[in-house]
Parts: sequence; C-alpha cells; structure tokens
Amino acid sequence: MPIERILIANRGEIALRIHRAAHEMGIETVAVHSTADADAMHVRLADHAVCIGPPAAGESYLNIANIISAAEIAQADAIHPGYGFLSENAKFAEIVEAHDIAWIGPKPEHIRTMGDKVEAKRTAGKLGLPLVPGSDGAVSDFDEARAIAAEIGYPVIIKAASGGGGRGMKVCEAEDQLETLMRQAGSEAKAAFGDATVYIEKYLGNPRHIEFQVFGDGRGAAIHLGERDCSLQRRHQKVLEEAPSPVLSSEERDRMGEICAQAMRDMAYRGAGTIEFLWENGEFYFIEMNTRLQVEHPVTEMITGIDLVREQIRIADGKDLSCKQEDIRFEGHAIECRINAEDPFTFAPSPGQVTHYHAAGGMHVRVDSGLYAGYRIPPYYDSMIAKLIVYGRTRERCIMRLRRALEEMVVEGVKTSIPLHQQLLHQNDVLSGDYSIKWLEEWLAGRDA
Ligand code: ADP
Repeated sequence: MPIERILIANRGEIALRIHRAAHEMGIETVAVHSTADADAMHVRLADHAVCIGPPAAGESYLNIANIISAAEIAQADAIHPGYGFLSENAKFAEIVEAHDIAWIGPKPEHIRTMGDKVEAKRTAGKLGLPLVPGSDGAVSDFDEARAIAAEIGYPVIIKAASGGGGRGMKVCEAEDQLETLMRQAGSEAKAAFGDATVYIEKYLGNPRHIEFQVFGDGRGAAIHLGERDCSLQRRHQKVLEEAPSPVLSSEERDRMGEICAQAMRDMAYRGAGTIEFLWENGEFYFIEMNTRLQVEHPVTEMITGIDLVREQIRIADGKDLSCKQEDIRFEGHAIECRINAEDPFTFAPSPGQVTHYHAAGGMHVRVDSGLYAGYRIPPYYDSMIAKLIVYGRTRERCIMRLRRALEEMVVEGVKTSIPLHQQLLHQNDVLSGDYSIKWLEEWLAGRDA
C-alpha cells in the first residue's frame, strides 16, 4: 500500500516543510502539537491535528507513547520525524516500524550506529572516510588519554560519545588540564545525555565545516547531492549556510562526494543523511553523520532542483531514487540565514507575540517559517523562527539578493537575528568566502569590544 497519510512528529517550519511536500504528492498530513502550539501554523495547515501533551517537549514532542497513539487514532500510515526531537532516536524508529507504520528515515540500526559518535567514527573509518586523528574509541583511563594526546599533539578536543547540537565538547590546550577537563566533560555528558563516555581527537586550528548530502535506497544504491559549507557558527551552532562551498573545486566535490556515496552503498543506507567533515588545507576529516534531514537542506534543493523531502517519502514508500548521480547538476549558488527570535547583540532569547510579519519575496527567494502576525512564539522550544533561503546564478548575485530580501523581512514584536545577518553580509571576509569555523566568534568579540 502506498503512503496516504503522514503523521509529522515535529513543529514549526520543518513540520510545514514536510506538509508541503506531502500535499504536492497528494498525501494527507496529521499534525501533532503540544498545548502551547494549538494555534501554530503547522496545526492550521495539516489535514488532521492531534494534541499530544503539555508544553514541555519531554511530555509532548518527545512522548513516544502519545505520538504512536496519535498515529493510530488518526490512522496515519507513515511518520516523518523532521529534525531534532525524535528524529535520531533508533528506539522510536523501531517502535514505529513495529506498529506497521512506515518510518520516513534511515534503518534503525544505522541511526543507532551513527548516533554513538565513537561507533560512528569507527564505522566511517571502515567505510574509507578520512578521520580526525584521535583515540580509537572511548577513553576512560587518564594515562591512556595522556598518551593519546601526547601522540596527536595539543590542543585536543574531548567529545561526548552521545553529544549533539554542539554540546558536550571541551578543548584542552595542555596536559595539566587534561584530567580535569575529562572529568568535567564526562559528568556534563552524563547529565545532558545520560552517558558519560568521551573520546579524544585533535583540535583543528582553523578548519571549515563542510558536509555532504547523501541519499540511499536501502538496497545498495546511493547518490550524493554535493556539499554545504556551514562554517559560520556561534558556539558550534550554524548561523548561515551556503552551497556550494566557496573553497571546493568541482573535482574535489566529485571526488569526496563519490567517497561518501560509495560509503552509503556499502552500508545499504536508506533515506537522507549528512556526512559532516572539517576541512583544513585541502584535507577532509570526518566528524559525524546525521541520519536525518538537516535544517540547512534547502540550499541543496536550490542548487540541484531536487525536493529532498519528496525523495525521503518516495524511499520510505519503497521506490527507487528518482535520479542517478550523472543526472545531478549543481547550478548557481544558494545561502540560508537562520532567523532566530533573539537579541542580535546578546543572543538572549526573545519569545513573545509577533505584532507584524512580512516575508521577503521575489525571484529565487524562499522563506520557510510558521510565522504570522499575531502568532505568539512560545518560550519552550528552539528559538529559530524562520529560514530565509536565496538563490543566485553566482555567489555575488546571491549575496546581493539576500541583502535585498533581508531588507524586506519584517518581524515586529520580538527581537530577531535579522540585523546580525545584515551586518554579516557586509563583511569583507564573508563577501570573499574567506572564513573558518572560528571567524564568527572572533568577529563578534571585535564587534562587541
Ligand atoms: P555536534 O554533534 O554536537 O554538532 P560535531 O562533532 O558535529 O558535534 O561538532 C560540532 C562543531 O564543533 C563542528 O562544526 C566544529 O565547529 C567543532 N568541532 C568538532 N570537532 C572539532 C575538532 N576536532 N577540531 C576543531 N573543531 C571541532
């Protein structure tokens, strides 16, 4: 039976994004929502809506029993998890499949492997992906840690095996801090992720963050859709993303993309995935793989013309990939600005009621957002309220168009990061594409000094 009704186990712009792809395929949607989101746009647009609990995400968007019950009540035959929340929860994926509901995501065993960063690194190494030098697996013994750090050289970074969202990492500059920082990292990881396991890798000085989008059919066919450059980050969180990367040649893209696609063929990977690398002096170093749709996926859609959510749904439905590697063309340039409800100077969250809203428009301008005038942004969830994605035939034209689109965007009643993006798009290093993952924080420190 083909998929006819998808339950979207998420909220905000990504729930809308999935709803749109489903409706274009003639598939009905079921929204789920907490009591805080009863008036949200994703609930208004969906064909059916089920309340799954109180505002706290743990009791609603992370509440597996309530979501499965909602799927049964609404007779959904598939679940799309979006990103965040339960999207990388292998247990949830298993439970969904055990209820004979199609899981629009990778095989649970692949979610599990890649969700454990130690396992992920080991698997990536076996699949032939280049790794950041570091410990071969988890490290618990301080003498072992000291020996590894001495061998790879300081600074090193201590990372939580179960970490995510830029959390659970400590940079260690010298041996005398190693034991203290390892203890701290372990206990913070235990508190945040319920797992104290840590590992060590070389801390790269000035890398870029470049990630490859991959897709597999689960039966051994796989393609790559090129890369995204997400080097503009604050506290390891992406702020602006672009495709293609300003620093990769098409030969490097083809070579690295093929290595990624081959790795996915060898795994018989199913669905969408992103393989993240740090890139320094022309070399790639695998850091992790995300087994889900990414926030920044639209920049890939803009330069390839491929609807990634449609592709995810097709694959979950047992169909083949809609295109072959040789059919994929990378044309032009796309940039995404993540617009958060926060103070553009202090970054303090700014929830509250949106009094006026006007989305940017015009040629090659896309706004993914659940905002509307009168909407009350709840304080309980992520502060991202909109994504502005712009395409241009060249990077230069893309930037000019993005500046114009940012001028048009109106979000009143709350503070937003729009002014930050406007400033960024006038910085010489951003204009020339000459920035590493350290650039934004250094620039912010200079700006605020
Ligand atoms: P998370 O799952 O929390 O997002 P990642 O492993 O993807 O963690 O790392 C997030 C960010 O942390 C990277 O984009 C990069 O900015 C920084 N980072 C991670 N590993 C290293 C490293 N070995 N050297 C330098 N920076 C790193």
